[in-house]
Amino acid sequence: MLQIRSVGKSYPTRSGGIDVLRGVELTLNAGESLAVMGPSGSGKSTLLNIIGTLEPPTTGTVMIGSSDPFALPADQLARFRSEQIGFIFQEHHLLPQCSALENVLLPTLATSAKGDRSARARELLQRVGLNDRLEHRPAELSGGERQRVAMARALINEPAVILADEPTGNLDEATAERVVDLLLELHRGAQRVLITVTHSEAVASRFDRRVVLRDGALQEAPGG
Ligand code: ADP
Ligand code: MG
Repeated sequence: MLQIRSVGKSYPTRSGGIDVLRGVELTLNAGESLAVMGPSGSGKSTLLNIIGTLEPPTTGTVMIGSSDPFALPADQLARFRSEQIGFIFQEHHLLPQCSALENVLLPTLATSAKGDRSARARELLQRVGLNDRLEHRPAELSGGERQRVAMARALINEPAVILADEPTGNLDEATAERVVDLLLELHRGAQRVLITVTHSEAVASRFDRRVVLRDGALQEAPGG
């Protein structure tokens, strides 16, 4: 489902380039969940942005399903991203002027998907426990509720890959635990891959696999 081979990423700086990633290898099968840990600045967000096709690697290849997204022309890459990738960020990135329901529907505007997306959006909001919050705007929701809207939004196009970058970083411990419960529950039985960056050993232990990003490469981590 996801294959990363020898991925490197360098950023130019005034004093020369910095190699944030150097030879990342990762293979995930459909249905697997992965927790990515590692110190601040180790390149976790950079790696998620590359897997999410938001920025190309400097070296190496990324295959999602049977596609090499970075070989696609820009317009097709944007389409690929909105159909195949679901993002959940630390900050919810919901549009403040839109209701919960409208926010969940946003990713469907950029796809060719047909059928009743509104019914699916309502069903997803029900699954994340927000049945009675459909018309609420982000400012009228709690932090945990906003992340649950973000989860429903990430799932609306049934993407192959869900990427969550410290999704519970802004939540208190009890709320964070419920958000992780829900994230894993929504993933259970699905044929997609789920990659979550977290600083919490307790959160990481609940994923199928754990890796640590250190010195630009991934190391398998024990636990579970
Ligand atoms: P993490 O998410 O693990 O905290 P990041 O992936 O955000 O780490 O950043 C890794 C390193 O890459 C940091 O040193 C950061 O300063 C650098 N970096 C990230 N994005 C850019 C960029 N667009 N330009 C230059 N340097 C960057
Ligand atoms: Mg980060």
